[in-house]
Amino acid sequence: MSHIATNLKAIQDRIASAARLSGRDPASVELLAVSKTHPAEVIREAVEAGQLSFGENKVQEVLAKAPQLPGTLRWHLIGHLQSNKVRKVLPLVHAVHSVDSLDLARDIHRIGGELGLRPKVYLEVNLAVESTKYGFTVAALRESLEAVCQLDRLDVQGLMCIPPYDPDAEKSRRYFVQLRELRDELEKSGGAPLPGLSMGMSHDFEIAIAEGSTVVRVGTAIFGERAARADVT
Ligand SMILES: *Cc1c(COP(=O)(O)O)cnc(C)c1O
Repeated sequence: MSHIATNLKAIQDRIASAARLSGRDPASVELLAVSKTHPAEVIREAVEAGQLSFGENKVQEVLAKAPQLPGTLRWHLIGHLQSNKVRKVLPLVHAVHSVDSLDLARDIHRIGGELGLRPKVYLEVNLAVESTKYGFTVAALRESLEAVCQLDRLDVQGLMCIPPYDPDAEKSRRYFVQLRELRDELEKSGGAPLPGLSMGMSHDFEIAIAEGSTVVRVGTAIFGERAARADVT
């Protein structure tokens, strides 16, 4: 087995154990292999090991890599999306996890409609109000949710967050709890289902699963270290 296949298997086992520990079905947690900065040859090793869903944070990288790999892969955009790139990227991606403003939601809705698509989206929440990160503040999301839910060409899956990085993974837990509780509150007040919680990365995905994550985004633990951490925004 390649080291990527070995890593993938280990992560899948850890996802399944974490799910069972919380009395959850392991199939209720999806693994996104975050392949940003890694070339198509490396991604192909993961594909050969059976991985189909990949996360990328830059439109340019999706545009460059997708044509080199099987059309059956599911690309998830997990980084900030500029409005002027929506038209290019929508036909290539399975879901956008980083919808961080009402304006962007409206652009994806309008362009998705023009392209005959119904884009799957997660609304990104900047829980710690970090100036280096994108996302709705909690107040902005409460205010905008009704308008977002009226955009009928959007298939709103749920919420996404990136907690402030701390090597102590336990420090992420309160943000995962906060995202889940915010989801529960918004489902009650807004009436729209938000079943998806995109949360958990290499160092804290087991805690995210314990707190209800339905999609974990794991890069380093599968593909190894990238050049810098500054790429998580
Ligand atoms: C890079 C990135 C990840 C993966 O981070 P790792 O620590 O390498 O697992 C997850 N989510 C987002 C939004 C990212 O940008």
